[in-house]
Amino acid sequence: MPFKDSLSKLSEYLEVGAENVAKKSGELIEVSKINMEISSEEKKAYELYAKIGKKIYKRYIEGMEVDKDFISKCKEIEDIEKDIKELKERKLRAKEMKNCRHCYCEMKAEDNYCPRCGKKQ
Ligand SMILES: [Zn+2]
Repeated sequence: MPFKDSLSKLSEYLEVGAENVAKKSGELIEVSKINMEISSEEKKAYELYAKIGKKIYKRYIEGMEVDKDFISKCKEIEDIEKDIKELKERKLRAKEMKNCRHCYCEMKAEDNYCPRCGKKQ
């Protein structure tokens, strides 16, 4: 093959390659846009599931009737809530702080009167 023809072939090859790269990156951009839309819709759905779950849990905590299928999960959440409360208290102790017994604001552990509501601890 003459040199000129080889160059022409090479140039054609490179053009096709560049087109493929452009097509691929266009596809990738489209796919990542769609993935972001999927994530956004999934997030909306999960937030609604959580709202439904919170309503059921609230009914459970208030002693209202709850479908028996949900009771064990409600008990698990109740235990988790207790753990969270203990962790928050530990965090306050680590910072040498405590919650006011009346208004629940954060205050120094050594203080006997709340700086917010003024009540004795
Ligand atoms: Zn207070």
